[in-house]
Amino acid sequence: MVIGGGPAGAAAAIMLARAGADVLLVERRSFPRPKVCGGCLGPRAIACLHQLGFEPALIEGAVRLDNVRVHVSGAQAVLPLPQGLAVDRAEFDQRVLALVREEGAEVWTEARARIGEPSSAARSVQVELKEGAREIAASVIVRATGLPSSPVTVPGARVGLSQTRSVGDTLAGPPEGDVWMVSGALGYIGMVRFADGRLNVAASLQASALGNLSPGASIDEVLIDAGLSPLRWHDGWTGTPPLRAHPTEVVEERVLPVGDAAGFWEPFTGEGIGWGLEAGIAVAPEALELGRDWDPRRAAEWMRGRQAWMRKVQTRSRTVAAISARPRVARAALGLMRTVPAVGRWLIPTAPAGGASEQRPGAARGLA
Ligand SMILES: Cc1cc2nc3c(=O)[nH]c(=O)nc-3n(C[C@H](O)[C@H](O)[C@H](O)COP(=O)(O)OP(=O)(O)OC[C@H]3O[C@@H](n4cnc5c(N)ncnc54)[C@H](O)[C@@H]3O)c2cc1C
Repeated sequence: MVIGGGPAGAAAAIMLARAGADVLLVERRSFPRPKVCGGCLGPRAIACLHQLGFEPALIEGAVRLDNVRVHVSGAQAVLPLPQGLAVDRAEFDQRVLALVREEGAEVWTEARARIGEPSSAARSVQVELKEGAREIAASVIVRATGLPSSPVTVPGARVGLSQTRSVGDTLAGPPEGDVWMVSGALGYIGMVRFADGRLNVAASLQASALGNLSPGASIDEVLIDAGLSPLRWHDGWTGTPPLRAHPTEVVEERVLPVGDAAGFWEPFTGEGIGWGLEAGIAVAPEALELGRDWDPRRAAEWMRGRQAWMRKVQTRSRTVAAISARPRVARAALGLMRTVPAVGRWLIPTAPAGGASEQRPGAARGLA
């Protein structure tokens, strides 16, 4: 059983169904659903999607990304991207979930799962459906439920916000093919323009700032700090619970967590979808083995390995997020990128070893 129909859960369900397992995926929302996200797919995500047999460039409105332009306190730098696409997350998730069905897995939407007690050969899961509750006995559960909700906001915590809007002929925001990363004292914002002209804005902002300012006003403050025009989007924002690292060390019987449910940091480098897809692909053979014969030691070892992998792949994202939270340091980093182009290259996600693209990006240019 897979709980959660985002990229991590969908990838796991596809791989399990392909391996001949009897798979049920349950998703609490009805798709398409809004999802707080910049919608950027980097080389890792694209390589994983190709492995799953999915061509993201064919999604309606998908746009190839050629450059990332970083804006801090009136300064900017442009870095060429080796491989990138921007997609509307609502549309993307719906299309990937359709592939889960095509691969033969059963999918229930508007179905909220609650993991129950383990027995000798299974673990029970209560699923709330519109027509009533069902109890399922699962030999193994892939938990791909995304960010955990947390009512407690720790000092310094950030929250995610996003919105996609038609902006008509306005020149606000990036041209097609560019992604803008805008950093300010309250947090940072990613902006892309889809092929149909809609602008997607996703932000990670200090939760404390939102106590005093509305989401739209906070976003405008970051834009103004960086020397850009405000958007004046006063409503229509979707938010997340506090974004916090929550590496899962405890092994729950017959449960394997993947994607954001297994530990999340900051989304600055736009790699969460790729990490989730890769984790979903990687969990399938393990879930098959552990579903046949649950072995807590083997599960613990697998989880330790996954945590080590996440710490490694999230190093860049953590570093960039820490720099971006300090505008003076971020401005100094922009200067460094001009004199030492390798610094700029390190910031750009590249393909995983053996992945779809081994191309290296070029040097930073255009620092103003
Ligand atoms: C501001 C912001 C910008 C971002 N920008 C990017 C970007 O540009 N590129 C990128 O790659 N990543 C980005 N990310 C990160 C990315 O969105 C996530 O890392 C990614 O969605 C994780 O996928 P997932 O499958 O683990 O979780 P999710 O996509 O969150 O999916 C989890 C699913 O589980 C369902 N679910 C939860 N609980 C239950 C339950 N009990 N029963 C049934 N279903 C349940 C939810 O409804 C949801 O659909 C961004 C994140 C933020 C906050």
